[in-house]
Amino acid sequence: MKVFSGIQPSGTMHIGNYLGALKQWVELQKKAECIFCIVDLHAITVPYQPKKLQENILDAAICYLAAGVNPEKSILFIQSEVKEHSELAWLLNTITPIGELQRMTQYKDKSKQFKGSIGSGLMNYPVLMAADILLYQTDMVPVGKDQKQHVELAKTIAKKFNSRFGKTFKIPEAYIPKSGAKIMALNNPKKKMSKSLGSASYIALFEEPVIIRKKIMSAVTDTGRKITYEPKKKPGISNLLNIYSLFSGKSIQKIEKDFNNKGYQELKKSLANLLINSLKPFRQKRKEFIKRKVYVREILKQGGKKAQNIAQSNIQKIKKRMGLI
Ligand code: ATP
Ligand code: MG
Repeated sequence: MKVFSGIQPSGTMHIGNYLGALKQWVELQKKAECIFCIVDLHAITVPYQPKKLQENILDAAICYLAAGVNPEKSILFIQSEVKEHSELAWLLNTITPIGELQRMTQYKDKSKQFKGSIGSGLMNYPVLMAADILLYQTDMVPVGKDQKQHVELAKTIAKKFNSRFGKTFKIPEAYIPKSGAKIMALNNPKKKMSKSLGSASYIALFEEPVIIRKKIMSAVTDTGRKITYEPKKKPGISNLLNIYSLFSGKSIQKIEKDFNNKGYQELKKSLANLLINSLKPFRQKRKEFIKRKVYVREILKQGGKKAQNIAQSNIQKIKKRMGLI
């Protein structure tokens, strides 16, 4: 079984990225052939600072490693170092209906968020993502819920290609965790926690204890006093309960019971302590990898070579099908 997934080096990795994606990656590497990518070409589809990009890329690699991605088992590399991703994206663009791209939720949300400075790269983002996935004949794509629509589009594109040019691509499936697939923003629990929403929306995977406490204590909650899981009526408290459950391993019902007759402040205090302890090993490992940047760069270089070998051989077959060779 082949697994592919990526995270954009668009800022600081947060607990949403971990629960929705990274945690599954670490599990899947035990039983599948995994390829994990730092998708820098995706990160440049919204306004960004070129001077900070290299730093963000290395930081993403350190984050993957600190979260448990094992470079001896999985291929870890930078997307832009394997040119076949861009090449295949162009080829797939020629068969992707524009209407499909315009109706993608992420495109609609981000074009509102960054209005006035949107390039066509943002609309074509899912085509590049389809290329990332299909280039490696992927079976499974572990992602958060927000990316399901893009994986569905990758399937549509693969089927379209296969019927037009003959069977070439495997049809991939999204692999979405039952819980943790959509962690909401702390400062706006109706929106998804996101790097691009700014640091008040998230708890970074390596957040320092004082900041964790500050952010959790000031997380937006709902009117009323009762601690119950009702995502529609009480999105703030429900999100905190969900995070609590995922890091403690306790069921939401058990936590509701434990906090019966207690106030929001008490839940928040307890959640802050839980997160401070749960994220401690990540903080420590990250500090170790920061001291070994040369080693991290070498992992990325070796990973890039391995990925390129697979990509080169596959793109030849694809171009042959299309009559380009
Ligand atoms: P950006 O705001 O730049 O889009 P992001 O926080 O959405 O950043 P991505 O790099 O786009 O992060 O996504 C990386 C992975 O993390 C994807 O698999 C995505 O589905 C998952 N993910 C992102 N946000 C969440 C979240 N709030 N809850 C669960 N999974 C998430
Ligand atoms: Mg995103």
